[in-house]
Amino acid sequence: MTVELISVGTELLLGNIVNTNANYLSKKCAILGLSLFYQITVGDNKDRLESVLSQALSRSDILIITGGLGPTQDDITKETVAKVLKRELILDEESKQRIKNYFYQFHSKKSTDDKDPVEIISENNWKQALKIDGSIVIDNHNGTAPGYIVEDSGKVVILLPGPPNELIPMVEDAIFPYLKKLQDKVFVTKMVKVCGIGESRAETKVLDLIEGQGNPTIAPYAKSGEVHFRITASAENQEEAERLIEPVIEEFYHRFGDNIYTISEEETLEEVVVKLLKKKQYSLVTAESCTAGLLSARLVNVPGISGIFNEGFTTYSNQAKVKHLGVKEETLEKYGAVSPQTAKEMAEGAALRTNSDTALAITGIAGPGGGTEEKPVGLVYISCYVRGETLVKECYFKGSRQKVREQSVINALDLLRRSLLNSDY
Ligand code: ATP
Repeated sequence: MTVELISVGTELLLGNIVNTNANYLSKKCAILGLSLFYQITVGDNKDRLESVLSQALSRSDILIITGGLGPTQDDITKETVAKVLKRELILDEESKQRIKNYFYQFHSKKSTDDKDPVEIISENNWKQALKIDGSIVIDNHNGTAPGYIVEDSGKVVILLPGPPNELIPMVEDAIFPYLKKLQDKVFVTKMVKVCGIGESRAETKVLDLIEGQGNPTIAPYAKSGEVHFRITASAENQEEAERLIEPVIEEFYHRFGDNIYTISEEETLEEVVVKLLKKKQYSLVTAESCTAGLLSARLVNVPGISGIFNEGFTTYSNQAKVKHLGVKEETLEKYGAVSPQTAKEMAEGAALRTNSDTALAITGIAGPGGGTEEKPVGLVYISCYVRGETLVKECYFKGSRQKVREQSVINALDLLRRSLLNSDY
């Protein structure tokens, strides 16, 4: 089944807001194995929306429309969909009651005077109690605009309010289960997450699998410092879908080996690292120069890390590296702050001073200035200390300052992950 996503709102067209709903809904469609072929953004204009709707109905099975369901004049979605589907707008008593309840609740929180909340409900708000004739009304527990599902001549049109805090719970509670029922197939998805290998090399390694794909499908996504492959198998039942996906996953492991850090959609690299540290009961300290806290911030994304994460040093200047980590002044003078020797001393010094089992240190030139022929922008040294053994990795990253810093963090986490996997302390 094919889906078309229609985002309504002039603010979106002007770039005043980012279309996060489209991002969220696209991912949901991918999980369900629905083919999303078109995404359209249209302003709050009846004629243009009408033409977008007619075109979408002619080429897609399911239309998901977001925004423009509010009470104001420029909220035109419901009226326009009703017109295109040649249906009436009729009063929905339940929605009317819900709007009343919503205002009672809101009013009692806001003020203590005994004015009847119904008096403060403007005419406009009652517009939200109108539903498209024959539609299924989807309750909105976080606002007044309900959503609607209209089944029409083999097509499905779904209308949802724009604010993400209203839309997301409605999708999770009602729309996702509804769409799942429409799918006669079962989908199993694995996300093969690869790091420590460049994007084009990673793709080349599995190009024959991508080009010859059928069921399962293989979709690569390049991330900063990582490549993810979404592998999706569809079948009549779960068992059959898993049977189809298994050999493909095996083949990925065969080609990428320990470059794969997880095959779970949700699991992140930092979670994998923290899990390994916890398993070995090792503590960790970080010493960062050019990333200045980015690595420790990423690590503390993982709930429960306090059990193993001791401290994070941000030592940007040479003096700070000497003072807090015990890096030798001779090392800095002789080799410079961006050198394997300094990276090593940063990691070892941090571990020694905090009595930690493991340490990660990063020092590099993030740019855009500061590079030389010998030490160009993007040169980063990452050092990993694990119980008396220290490794240093030399990296040359491309891209903006932010990209260089992000890639440094990913590579540092990956270096620790590999050291832990290979360590038999
Ligand atoms: P409301 O009842 O709040 O008016 P609505 O369905 O009419 O809901 P819009 O008026 O189109 O929605 O948008 C309201 C707000 O919702 C926007 O100002 C914006 O903050 C957010 N919003 C709308 N569409 C999107 C989108 N596609 N992605 C992210 N946020 C959005």
